[in-house]
Amino acid sequence: MNNFKPRMLAIIREADCIGCTRCIQACPADAILGSAQWMHTVIAEECIGCQLCIPPCPVDCIEMVPILEPTENKSVRKQKAVHFRKRYHARQARLLHEAQSQPVTLHEKGDKKAYIQAAIERARLKKIR
Ligand code: SF4
Ligand code: SF4
Repeated sequence: MNNFKPRMLAIIREADCIGCTRCIQACPADAILGSAQWMHTVIAEECIGCQLCIPPCPVDCIEMVPILEPTENKSVRKQKAVHFRKRYHARQARLLHEAQSQPVTLHEKGDKKAYIQAAIERARLKKIR
């Protein structure tokens, strides 16, 4: 029986992308590049194929494609796992830092809803640390 499963990679149809940044916020691997109002693109080497970027895209312009890679030995797979874990933790640290630095600005603006949302996000990030 063949258990081979190709690695899945997200690709963005850049012509359809409206630059809303929702996929960036959803990607746990920081594998998407782009900024508001600009088209976005996936960094193939960093994509872990989790598909979390697909549901938030309002224009449905992200798809998963299989890619064929040379068979990796255990040591290479382990190195990759460490690399992806490091990127994930770096992302969590950045999100926490952003959430912690948000309240002052938002509070000054009197944006109560965003202030509460930032507080909820801080609490959520603390839980998963
Ligand atoms: S599939 Fe996962 S890792 Fe790849 S770009 Fe989408 S959210 Fe990021
Ligand atoms: S969610 Fe979709 S439309 Fe929005 S930036 Fe990402 S790829 Fe582009």
